[in-house]
Amino acid sequence: MPTFHTASEEETIALGEKLARELPARAAVLLIGNLGAGKTTLAKGIVKGLGVAAPEEVSSPTFTLIHEYGAPPKVYHVDLYRLDRAGEAARLGLDELFDRDAMVLIEWGERFPELMPPARIEIRIHAGEGDHREIEVRCITI
Ligand code: ADP
Ligand code: MG
Repeated sequence: MPTFHTASEEETIALGEKLARELPARAAVLLIGNLGAGKTTLAKGIVKGLGVAAPEEVSSPTFTLIHEYGAPPKVYHVDLYRLDRAGEAARLGLDELFDRDAMVLIEWGERFPELMPPARIEIRIHAGEGDHREIEVRCITI
């Protein structure tokens, strides 16, 4: 899959909308990148593109750990940043989410690779100069 470039928050949201149309509706999608890279911003675009919430309704699940959008949920948005140990993350029951007919967006999932499904999509966001971001989408099949 290709590598994209954005130059503003708005462009990253627009890219998320485009990816929402191209990615499988049911998938584990790891959003990988440093703090402030734009993982939550891209999630806003994907949620918007799937038509389940407006970007301003999407906030970081840093403290709440899991947000869901749609009824029944079409998107789960997970943030594992605050969790230190795999045991804590394991108790979230992510496997149950992966079994659902929904897209599961996961920030900091790469910290707990053993909890991630082998078939997944990895989106890496690299911050460049200023507002520039390089966004690489990779589908990992088994
Ligand atoms: P993360 O979830 O990776 O920690 P956020 O999406 O919460 O990051 O925050 C990204 C920050 O970077 C926001 O303040 C956003 O306005 C800013 N930003 C600047 N340029 C971009 C861009 N091209 N794409 C996404 N966010 C950008
Ligand atoms: Mg975030």
